[in-house]
Amino acid sequence: MAVDLTYDLIVIGAGPGGTAAAIKAAKAGLNTLIVEKDSIGGTCLNRGCIPTKALLHASGIYRQASGASSFGVNCKPEIDEAALASYRDKTVDTLVEGLKTSLEKETTLEIVFGTASVVSAGELIDVRITTADGVKECQTRDLILATGSETIIPNIPGIDLDVVTDSDRLLKATKLPESLVIIGGGVIGTEFASFFTDLGRKVTIIEGLPRILSGFDKEISRNVQMILKKRGAEIHTGSRVTAISKAEDGSAVVSFETDGAENKVAAEAVMIAVGRRAVIDLREKIGIKVTDGRIETTGLGRTSVAHIYAIGDITSGPQLAHKASAEGENAVADILSDDSIIWPDFIPACVYTNPEIACVGMTEAEAEAAGIDVVSVRALTSANAKSVITCEERGFVKLVADRNERRLVGAQLMCANATDMIGELAAAISNDVVSIDDLAMVMRAHPTYEECIGEALKLLKQKL
Ligand code: NAD
Repeated sequence: MAVDLTYDLIVIGAGPGGTAAAIKAAKAGLNTLIVEKDSIGGTCLNRGCIPTKALLHASGIYRQASGASSFGVNCKPEIDEAALASYRDKTVDTLVEGLKTSLEKETTLEIVFGTASVVSAGELIDVRITTADGVKECQTRDLILATGSETIIPNIPGIDLDVVTDSDRLLKATKLPESLVIIGGGVIGTEFASFFTDLGRKVTIIEGLPRILSGFDKEISRNVQMILKKRGAEIHTGSRVTAISKAEDGSAVVSFETDGAENKVAAEAVMIAVGRRAVIDLREKIGIKVTDGRIETTGLGRTSVAHIYAIGDITSGPQLAHKASAEGENAVADILSDDSIIWPDFIPACVYTNPEIACVGMTEAEAEAAGIDVVSVRALTSANAKSVITCEERGFVKLVADRNERRLVGAQLMCANATDMIGELAAAISNDVVSIDDLAMVMRAHPTYEECIGEALKLLKQKL
């Protein structure tokens, strides 16, 4: 094979994982190529975290404005869907441009738009890149696969109807449905339910498992379900969708079964949110090991094939942008034999519902299953001054500790600003020299939501 170009590192996929890896590698002087077949920024920036959080920010303002008279501010909010879409897209564009600038300013980093495939893996790895201008044959010493994930489309009769959509399409839409059935009550399902209920639109969630957000602590599931229902959402857990059809008036009708009973619900659209499938199109050619649809990795992203790394949604564990970025940087640290890694074991998980949810480390049940002598406490936000001032929904900070070690092993927060507060707890849990006594000695400003962490630590000290 005639080789056109040779690199130290090729990264396939320019999402949060691939771009973090490529920038770190280029900064260290590696001659790096990043290949992207679609848009810089991947799912997170273009059709995931960022547009969703922009919509949730806007719907939060709408909800607050709707209840503003309780603060002595009278107004009647209205949604301008075109302006909402333009704010969402402008937010995405700003961040994509910023990321492009960060990539372009690296002098040893080249960006190519095209589709990469791995031809062979030996001492050097052969990569073929098909672009609009033709095919380029490249060689690289190291390769990082960061090809991400895509929506799983379940096999349900009627799934191809035009009333069925997914988060990718809803996040590009300029007209939002007045009513929505969401199939799947996981992270995407609950965030969209929070957005639509904020706007006062009718939402129905149909979840297969006994509870929504089943990967989270039970109290979080219970509370988020209660709050969404209070805001008008209909939630059917333990339910199986049997068919989707279209009524004469053009609305969608979803048939489902709960405990053997047949039900039907109608809405303007149906959104599929039953999980995401890793995009791994290269495995036959390079022989890397794949288990349960994800690439097996050891250490810092190494696959079963020497010098080929895998990071982000195509590997096991949660499919989160910050996990992908950390794995990207860690893979490059491994390539450079430098030890500046990000601890891979403590991955914060955040859900941007209202109120927000943020977790790190083990839940109480997981800690008990791991044989830890567990102590747990829950501090309610009802007496927290900042929460009272801003009239927040009832929330809590739950801490899970190891009694013998006097250390935190997990934290689950459901309250205003939870996603910004989790950092302190992630730092404490990741760092095995920080005790509960150390954390309780930290002075927290007043009035802040964060004071609730101080309250929880006091409760914990009393129980230890
Ligand atoms: P998920 O795995 O979080 O939830 C999917 C849900 O669908 C599960 O509760 C599952 O039981 C249910 N389900 C599966 N098949 C079903 C069926 N046929 N009928 C009814 N229910 C069914 O997946 P998701 O919500 O699609 O999100 C995909 C990934 O994206 C997740 O890994 C998530 O962590 C990530 N994500 C993260 C964020 C964030 O960090 N805030 C936001 C959105 C997505």
